[in-house]
Amino acid sequence: MSILELKDIQTYYGGIHALKGISLTVNKGEIVTLIGSNGAGKSTTLKTICGQVQPKSGSVLFNGKNIASQPAHVTAKTGLAHVPEGRRIFPRLTVKENLEMGAFSVNDKKLVQQRMEKVFHYFPRVKERLSQKGGTMSGGEQQMLAIGRALMSQPDLLLLDEPSMGLAPVIVEQIFDIITELNKEGMTILLVEQNAFQALQVAHRGYVIQTGEIVMSGLGSDLITNEQVREAYLA
Ligand code: ATP
Repeated sequence: MSILELKDIQTYYGGIHALKGISLTVNKGEIVTLIGSNGAGKSTTLKTICGQVQPKSGSVLFNGKNIASQPAHVTAKTGLAHVPEGRRIFPRLTVKENLEMGAFSVNDKKLVQQRMEKVFHYFPRVKERLSQKGGTMSGGEQQMLAIGRALMSQPDLLLLDEPSMGLAPVIVEQIFDIITELNKEGMTILLVEQNAFQALQVAHRGYVIQTGEIVMSGLGSDLITNEQVREAYLA
């Protein structure tokens, strides 16, 4: 069953035609990855899904409802969480406050605490740093915090934008292990990555985006051995 379906999305930044008819599907329980080079339109696709950028035309069906052009703060309350490129944690707030921001629409303090405990299960290191200011954490810790903050809204679908960016290989491994673990426990994930090799290793299916268009799609295991993909993205 599809949780997310994009149909012929056209997105512009002024005169720049960033997405030229993007169609893709994410089924419940899957990790789907969108890979492509710099400027291909990966981030714009996620921003269009979560309502930060309005498409000129096309539909974004989330749990069957068209949410294209719905404001981001509304979409965030309906089961969709976006971890943006560059993490965007709140540097002056503590780690705990950052997590609480992720559950901004939940009034029940006990529920917020329960969700925080769940985040600690995935990210024990975040628990050790609760009173530290977000901006003083390392890049890897900030990425963990950003994912933890997104989990606080208990989403049906997690959108991850380049979680491996700028991180040391050993930390990248840890992040991808957590992505796999989250998925095994039921989380559906749309993962945008320039790190195609690692993304295709964890993803059930993948799409390749080039200058605003999907040029290839298939099982992660097929794409990773595909000659064209290997030459363009895995060299
Ligand atoms: P990257 O990994 O570098 O972020 P990307 O695949 O995520 O690449 P996008 O950021 O979605 O690519 O960019 C797609 C196209 O839209 C590019 O040509 C980019 O220059 C352009 N673009 C992105 N954001 C803006 C903006 N705010 N204003 C104008 N053009 C933009």
